[in-house]
Amino acid sequence: MHGGAGSGRYREEDPRFAGLVGAVEAGLAAMKKGSGTDGAVAAVGSMEDSGLFNCGRGACLTAEGRVELDAAVMSGDGLAGAGVGNVTSTHRPVALARWVMDNTEHVLLVGERTRDYVKLARLEVEELTPSEASAARFEAISKEARHRGALRLVRRFKTGDTVGAVAVGSDGVPAAAVSTGGRWMKLPGRVGDSAILGAGLFADSKLGAACATGTGEDIIRVGLCMRACEYMEAGTAQRAAARSIDRISRVRGRGNAGIITVDLKGRVGAAFNTEAMGRAWFDEVKGRVVATVGPDR
Ligand code: ASP
Repeated sequence: MHGGAGSGRYREEDPRFAGLVGAVEAGLAAMKKGSGTDGAVAAVGSMEDSGLFNCGRGACLTAEGRVELDAAVMSGDGLAGAGVGNVTSTHRPVALARWVMDNTEHVLLVGERTRDYVKLARLEVEELTPSEASAARFEAISKEARHRGALRLVRRFKTGDTVGAVAVGSDGVPAAAVSTGGRWMKLPGRVGDSAILGAGLFADSKLGAACATGTGEDIIRVGLCMRACEYMEAGTAQRAAARSIDRISRVRGRGNAGIITVDLKGRVGAAFNTEAMGRAWFDEVKGRVVATVGPDR
């Protein structure tokens, strides 16, 4: 599980630390009865509920101060997957993406009409409102925007605390899921990497799974997660994660991306070119979930 690569380091006492560990535990519980996809979706769902990260109840806001969410899910089994973008009527867009994957032919549904599928997916139809913390931050940024112009301001918020998970089920099928509010002050209607298969996530039964965080516009351009999965053909999950981050750093510069990976044996990898990336995973040797934020493992 990752909790984004944009907020710098935080300490073990920070509630996000427990949020990451709790999310992995929720994913593992779902995988006792279900697949890797069930685990990844449950883990991301727990982060959406928490309000602590840039997704679900804690999402960042558009230049108009609104919540517009992106999410996606993918299973390596037959490259099944789907994304949703600009979702405004459920704080659980990852569950909506799962419904689109399981019930339609499509890989991307966006905009106001996603409300229709929220009902069909038996999720509660909500009017999403900014959290207190997000509203306060928007107020502060808006003051600056009046001086500098909102269009330029978005560049300062390259990445945030998007969340994502990768897993391999007991059937050996890898899966990934991701959910985000996108970038602070993004233009209304913008869709980022987290809705797009191959960019913000990828899973392939022959390779493994990957999930990204960072500047969506850069991640889409280099097809980051598909690339990371292809790198697993010739190397470990950790090596593939590092190679994919080297690649995006070379092509688009540093400070814009983080990634987590899992190979078919369940070995995990993580890499980022920002200061830090919160992440947690089940450590088989220690027999428990562990979490870290900095470059150490
Ligand atoms: N990848 C997200 C986006 O660009 C941002 C993030 O990772 O925080 O929509």
